[in-house]
Amino acid sequence: MDRQENTDVLVVGGGTAGFGAAVAAGRLGLDVILLEATGKVGGVMAFCPGMPWGAAYPAGRIIGGLMEELICRLEAMDPPAAEKRPCTLENFGPEIVYDHDIATLTMLAMLQEAGVQVRLNTSAFAPELDHTGISQVACFDRSGPFKIKPGIVIDCSGDGDISARAGVPFTLGDGDGNMMGVTISFHMVGVDWARAFAEPDPYFTKYAEKGITEGRLNPDLAKLYLMKGFNKGTVFCNSVHVRGVDGTDPAAVGQATQEGRRRCQQLAQFLRTDVPGFANAHMSLLSPIAGVRETRKFEALYRVTGEDLARGTRFADGIVCCDNPVDDVMRADAGMTHDAIVGKGSYYTIPFRCLVPQDMPNLMFAGRLVSADPVAFASVRGMPQCVAMGQATGTAAALVLRHGGTVQGLDPELLVGELARQGVNGLGNAGPT
Ligand SMILES: Cc1cc2nc3c(=O)[nH]c(=O)nc-3n(C[C@H](O)[C@H](O)[C@H](O)COP(=O)(O)OP(=O)(O)OC[C@H]3O[C@@H](n4cnc5c(N)ncnc54)[C@H](O)[C@@H]3O)c2cc1C
Repeated sequence: MDRQENTDVLVVGGGTAGFGAAVAAGRLGLDVILLEATGKVGGVMAFCPGMPWGAAYPAGRIIGGLMEELICRLEAMDPPAAEKRPCTLENFGPEIVYDHDIATLTMLAMLQEAGVQVRLNTSAFAPELDHTGISQVACFDRSGPFKIKPGIVIDCSGDGDISARAGVPFTLGDGDGNMMGVTISFHMVGVDWARAFAEPDPYFTKYAEKGITEGRLNPDLAKLYLMKGFNKGTVFCNSVHVRGVDGTDPAAVGQATQEGRRRCQQLAQFLRTDVPGFANAHMSLLSPIAGVRETRKFEALYRVTGEDLARGTRFADGIVCCDNPVDDVMRADAGMTHDAIVGKGSYYTIPFRCLVPQDMPNLMFAGRLVSADPVAFASVRGMPQCVAMGQATGTAAALVLRHGGTVQGLDPELLVGELARQGVNGLGNAGPT
């Protein structure tokens, strides 16, 4: 017979959203199991180690909650393990750079302090349904299959296999199946920063042009986005994107990873020979697997739109604020753009209803699974917002289990009030403060 376990809350996926969901639910006294298919928490943050946390400061103020706590814990270390700096790209607010290993260790520590059972190298596979919603979830680890009977399931898996198999309707990417490019990142270590960053172009365009013209770089490398890493002399290369990959297909992601790594090696070699400051540097922290930005978009109680964002809408059930530009990366033939969505000093909020399916009474999703149209998605998907979406669903789970009823029936005022008590800023439809 399969092993069988019970839990109040099952969080599927230990990325930034799963971190937020599990810590919030655990702190509110629930039994929480978090399943993470890989050997580390962080999700995309661990697949592309060193990506800065953007969008944490809409209209100049931190979003608060667990994200603020994580940043403060890292900043308070001796030496500090995180630092706020301006983003070198247009239309982005400040970003947080951090020591990747210390950050993921601290996330794990916060999960453990909240009493969460973290199961690494463990996958959720298929939900079983009855009149209450998801009655059990079939899972597996290297010891074999087992089942978890959850009160509430929070799908933070990025791709939403469990929500899809539970029958929640979805579209892929932009609705026509075009998904943003996947990315394989790496660091260069031992760079002379003064020489490398002597010119102001964050995309190193003239060097990229040379490499492409000479056939030494892939044509999709027209914008070499190179940024100073957290540790002195390191450069984070968030440049190698592979188009047209279906992130729900493991074989396609595996192939893109290999192809991307080949392009990373070419780029590292090119940087050493052709770009000032890199001559003595070497490649490090190559992505273990491609970072996937976008796959399924589920039908939810509400789908937030680009028009909502452009109006700076602050929804009554807004659970996190945001002012990130429309950060689009290579859907179909498109390039990379980051046009502003709201005016300077303004922000919008992401409604809780975008995290709640229409029918399944004990299922929520968070993070990049948020229900958003293609324009809105390109703005709402930053890691700080994913942590906050997770925090909102973990908190919602506690309120639903405490007061009874379904996730669809939860009073948004209760949720927003509890999130405010937890120190989340700019909630609901509150005006600027
Ligand atoms: C290349 C790239 C660059 C980016 N740059 C930035 C940036 O600079 N700043 C920024 O703020 N944001 C950036 N983003 C966006 C941001 O990183 C993501 O939107 C965010 O990390 C998504 O978090 P998530 O928790 O929703 O999903 P993910 O990070 O995808 O995490 C999902 C987790 O679920 C696990 N999982 C999946 N299926 C299962 C299963 N069945 N059972 C158990 N576990 C499962 C996965 O292993 C993974 O760990 C970037 C994204 C990418 C891809």
